[in-house]
Amino acid sequence: MAKRRQKKEAATAGDTDAGAERFHVPKDEEVAVAVLRAIQERGPFRSQKQFRGAVVEALRATDPKATVGEARLRHIALRSKMIHLELDYRDGTGKIEEECPVCGGQLRKVRNRTLNKKTVVTGFECPKCVYRTPSEKMRPARYQFSARRL
Ligand SMILES: [Zn+2]
Repeated sequence: MAKRRQKKEAATAGDTDAGAERFHVPKDEEVAVAVLRAIQERGPFRSQKQFRGAVVEALRATDPKATVGEARLRHIALRSKMIHLELDYRDGTGKIEEECPVCGGQLRKVRNRTLNKKTVVTGFECPKCVYRTPSEKMRPARYQFSARRL
């Protein structure tokens, strides 16, 4: 619902400035500044949607047409090291890709040695972020963002 409202606002802004782009894609650094503002003033966030809503609002304080997608925002926020991310998982279908669904990093297989000294893959973990699953079918279901304690 928040997404729809933002689109409408952007469309309205576009109407007053005929011919201009409806949306403006801010630079990574601009998004990172908005992430910091949002998390300090409005955080913690219990969903990615809520987090994105607050960041877009912070961006639009200076750039009324600014927008950022959830995946790009998540990647920038993780790289900034300013946020702490918590994940809930749900069962997914099919095998997991080699790429981390959270940050796009290369996943590592977690292996365990069984009693008869064979190794079996028991899950996956991402060396770059918090993604860690006990089975290859678990997918991120909910993202919670809070300020990282330094
Ligand atoms: Zn990752």
